[in-house]
Amino acid sequence: MNNTETKQKLLDQLYEPYKQCLLCPLAKQGRTNVVFGEGNVNSHLMFIGEGPGREENEQGKPFVGRSGKLLTRLLTIVGIDRQDVFITNIVKCRPPGNRRPTFEESSTCKKILLLKQIEIINPKIICTLGSCAVENIIEKQVAISKIRGTCLPWNNRIIIPTFHPAYALRNPRVIETMVEDILNAKRKSEI
Ligand code: SF4
Repeated sequence: MNNTETKQKLLDQLYEPYKQCLLCPLAKQGRTNVVFGEGNVNSHLMFIGEGPGREENEQGKPFVGRSGKLLTRLLTIVGIDRQDVFITNIVKCRPPGNRRPTFEESSTCKKILLLKQIEIINPKIICTLGSCAVENIIEKQVAISKIRGTCLPWNNRIIIPTFHPAYALRNPRVIETMVEDILNAKRKSEI
């Protein structure tokens, strides 16, 4: 079994018990699918957003709605095919009305799924999208406009935070900055 097959098997084993997860309140707030994430399990670069939206919940895939289309476009601009990176969220079930996940929801989901996904995929660089993602990983409140684009050491990896594409849809002036941050993340993942 090669590295890709081993990692995929480990991820499948990780997901199996949580396909109908009931461990946090998001299980009973309109969830259709638990959206585990998708992409290249061998990627050195991983993207982590906040949580699935309406279309992601329906399709069971991360970042497939309007924000996802923008993310895919930004990846293309810097020369990344989205299939070549791994994309997921802090919480795997949709928060109703796209509200921010609560501390209980995000800490529960992070513990059972996200931290294990990171361990299996083993990316060098994690590009977090929006303040919720970075705050939940580094366990500290931040001002995203101040720390975006910086390299934050975390568990022998580097976190590079940038804005969430949903924010960029409302504030297109940050798109150029996001391109810069994602390009920086790509370059660092290739070293
Ligand atoms: S968000 Fe995570 S912890 Fe909560 S129900 Fe979904 S899979 Fe389980």
